[in-house]
Amino acid sequence: MMAYNVDFLLSALFFLLIILRHFMEQRALNTKSSKAFLAFLLMGIANIILDLLCTVFITLAKPGLAWISEFCLTMLYLLQVLVPVSLLNYIRSFYEHERKLPHWQRLCRAAPVLVMGMLILCNHWHGLFFRVDSSGAYFRGPYYLSMYLFAGLYILAVTVISHLKAEQLGWKKVRAIHELLIVVSICVVLQSFYHDILLTGFGIAISISILFFTINNPYQYTDSLTGLFDMNYFREQTGYFLMRKKTFHVLEVDLCQLKRINRILGTDVGNQALYQAAQMLQQVGKNVRVFRSSGKRFLLICPTISEYETALNQIQTMFSQPMEIGGSSVLSPVAICGIMHAEQMDSCEFLTNYLDYLSSLIATTTRTVLIQGNQETLRGFRYTQEIEHFLQIALEEDLFEVYFQPVYSTTKKRYVSAEALSRLRHPTLGPVSPDVFIGLAEKNDQIARLSLLQMRRICTLLKESPEIMEQLQGVKINLSPLEILKRGHIQQLVDTILESGIPASFFSFEITETVASDYTENLRKAVDLFTGAGIGLCMDDFGSGYANLNSVLKLPFSVIKMDRSLMAGICTDEKAAALYRNTVAVLRNMDFTVIAEGVETSAELKLLSDWGVEMIQGFYFSPPLSRAGLLKLLQTNCAAAEDEKRNT
Ligand code: C2E
Ligand code: MG
Ligand code: MG
Repeated sequence: MMAYNVDFLLSALFFLLIILRHFMEQRALNTKSSKAFLAFLLMGIANIILDLLCTVFITLAKPGLAWISEFCLTMLYLLQVLVPVSLLNYIRSFYEHERKLPHWQRLCRAAPVLVMGMLILCNHWHGLFFRVDSSGAYFRGPYYLSMYLFAGLYILAVTVISHLKAEQLGWKKVRAIHELLIVVSICVVLQSFYHDILLTGFGIAISISILFFTINNPYQYTDSLTGLFDMNYFREQTGYFLMRKKTFHVLEVDLCQLKRINRILGTDVGNQALYQAAQMLQQVGKNVRVFRSSGKRFLLICPTISEYETALNQIQTMFSQPMEIGGSSVLSPVAICGIMHAEQMDSCEFLTNYLDYLSSLIATTTRTVLIQGNQETLRGFRYTQEIEHFLQIALEEDLFEVYFQPVYSTTKKRYVSAEALSRLRHPTLGPVSPDVFIGLAEKNDQIARLSLLQMRRICTLLKESPEIMEQLQGVKINLSPLEILKRGHIQQLVDTILESGIPASFFSFEITETVASDYTENLRKAVDLFTGAGIGLCMDDFGSGYANLNSVLKLPFSVIKMDRSLMAGICTDEKAAALYRNTVAVLRNMDFTVIAEGVETSAELKLLSDWGVEMIQGFYFSPPLSRAGLLKLLQTNCAAAEDEKRNT
């Protein structure tokens, strides 16, 4: 009688049980591929257990155990047919996205397995594959090898499919499948030479571990800080739900004060806040899955509306209380975005972009706030997407325009300078607000390109219209914060001006107040480049940000533009008026030239004149104008200039 070596089988079983435990613990079972992997894994384990049992019974060869020996062998043979089939199904799970195949196709696919399965189940009567006699001894049947042939055909199918579908599968999966096939083939060939060493089960175990480590390892989707699933897994999950049109609802929770916590209390406390938030979120519902999507954002997938609503309420309550971290209370309000029936979204990318859009609608906040997607926000998002797409074309084809909003001097009674403002017109959606397309260009790292195009356009327009340069003392150009951070960009702007031949002193750049205190180091370099070339600097939107006035005043600004928002209520509210008046007085005392932005009425103009503001930019005098509009307006300037000359 042959003595079998079961060491390989035992170690394979041990190995697979550990993989099963880790796989189940992470609960990463909801995608088609995970389910197919689990099926393959369970069949591999069952195959090894049955192989071990059969080996024991065959070795013992006891008459009383003949029936159980035969039963185990039947099951083992059956599984050896099913294992390659389940491998093929697993591979298919990556590229077959239809919900259900037509009946005839399913029948065609199942037919060979059904026929083989029936033959194995009926083996007791015909003994085609094996036989166990009354003494318990095992004999191979005449068609014993047909089972290996059957498995071989399926393995061949896997090889061909992985080759044909290589593009859809991706190189990583194809490589794993090839490694798997090589390992299985080696083990089967070895076993055919050395019948006593049971290597097939070992080969299956190695194959499964290759898949576990490269494709279906739930830990590859785990965020190391919080232990939650990461964004890749969210994409995989939602991709699966979207494909199947399976109902799901999504919540995004943003620890919006994390940056502040990091800055004030240190990153250790910030990390603890993140970890604690993750723990809290995991308690909102048994069926609710929590993911960490980026630095301070978490995503939750809720299977039902009631779970969505419960989670929403719990999160609002949880985060309105301070967290206890390292003995101190840390208040960490959250911004929550909710999308119900997320299965109606076009794709996972659309869903995540929509969430980004929703969170962009929430202003920085010091308390927990909620925004839920509705028809209106969805329309706004689709509009933004359309503009984002058009912006790319506009940059490639240089479709922007430059408008100029003149600044009026109340003492000189004429226009003295102008601000260049970008304009963009969508062929069907009409004019796009600069706040929208500048914001998008900043988000998508296109702002430097846009700014350079506009700089060239401004120089060309000015050279073509000497009247503008004769009438005005200068043009101001907006500089986005991100432009200051872009290496080499400021030099390009300066070069463009110098190459145009227009005196550099005709230009000045507008920098917002927040930038002036935030990006000190980069800003300083930019400032040196501008001032070195003789280009001026102007502070824009003064009073709208949270500037560190001390650092602002260190920069060489000569002109300060008062933000339009400060104008609100100066005619009706004594406090608003006092704030404006006193701010202007301080700035004038420090020898700054003050420009009032957003002046719309004669009452506002009167007050500003009383407070000593002589430079006015606003719709009261003129909206932003095209070059032709500006030239027309400047004709009135000529008359005023003549008057001025006559008077002096
Ligand atoms: P800003 O630099 O503060 O420009 C002034 C904005 O206020 C302009 O809006 C102008 O049309 C508007 N405005 C001027 N007077 C009045 C008024 O009396 N009433 C009202 N309601 N609004 C007035 P616009 O053109 O929509 O530009 C918005 C912002 O977009 C600008 O604010 C600027 O920050 C940015 N921007 C525009 N063009 C560019 C550009 O080429 N580059 C960069 N980086 N930013 C730009
Ligand atoms: Mg400006
Ligand atoms: Mg402004």
